[in-house]
Amino acid sequence: MPDTRYRGRFAPSPTGPLHLGSLIAATASYLQARHQGGEWWVRIEDIDPPREVAGASDMILRTLEAFGFEWDGPVSYQSCQQDRYRAALAQLQRENRVYACGCSRKDLATAGNYIYPGTCREGLAPGRQPRSWRLRVPEQVDEYVDAIQGLQRTEPATELGDFVLWRADGYVAYQLATALDDAEQGMTEVVRGADLLDSTPRQRLVQQALGLPSPAYAHHPVVTGANGYKLSKQNRAPPLDSHKPTPQLHAALRFLGQAPPMPLQQAHVDELWAWARANWDLQRIPAILSRQIEKLP
Ligand code: GLU
Repeated sequence: MPDTRYRGRFAPSPTGPLHLGSLIAATASYLQARHQGGEWWVRIEDIDPPREVAGASDMILRTLEAFGFEWDGPVSYQSCQQDRYRAALAQLQRENRVYACGCSRKDLATAGNYIYPGTCREGLAPGRQPRSWRLRVPEQVDEYVDAIQGLQRTEPATELGDFVLWRADGYVAYQLATALDDAEQGMTEVVRGADLLDSTPRQRLVQQALGLPSPAYAHHPVVTGANGYKLSKQNRAPPLDSHKPTPQLHAALRFLGQAPPMPLQQAHVDELWAWARANWDLQRIPAILSRQIEKLP
């Protein structure tokens, strides 16, 4: 029975061209939706102008098309949603769930703290200007079952601390924008890389603070290069080659524990998709955080 209520998404940041790591995330979320007859949306997370690369959004969409992805509904752009993000912040401010923070990056680096020590929680010190807005993280345990990684248990107050929802440079933080969009766009499941596993309790807290539902989550392993680092746009992973989609998609499927027949490596990409849609099995994805790939396709 097709699950017409299922809705998943791929949410790239336009900081460069897609690479094999992005293809793996797009493929996993796409097949998890399509295998069960659900929807798959694309959301461009263009909320960080300092890191944005001109033309990257269009390039990403063209690459997805060349690989044979078909999305539902119009592509959404977070840069067009500033009013909604501001309204969410205002609601959190009214309800005293966030507080202004006057600490600079330098202050925090000097304190040697990755977890924010709560310096401004009870108010700004005299002479301090508000810079960012932080969520008042409650003392409670967060638990959910990740469909790939199993039970996730976090004590956010001690393990994460009060984190930033509105940045000192005036931009909305990823945690607020993404938590809000996943809930308001009606996502039922978020399938993404395990590099974002520590964002999930943060986003669940934001959704709770705003009285919004949380989707289910599944975090697949991320691909690392021979040097052990995650392939990313920042460390210049080679871009996908739109002229040869099949071998790269084949490699992405193998990475995700699926077993596409070897002859399909030579097939048209549509044939590989037909096999992948019919045979997709999330349970075959290894429950590990990262995995090395020796040779890029
Ligand atoms: N925009 C994020 C990225 O490209 C992904 C966000 C998400 O899937 O939640 O890393």
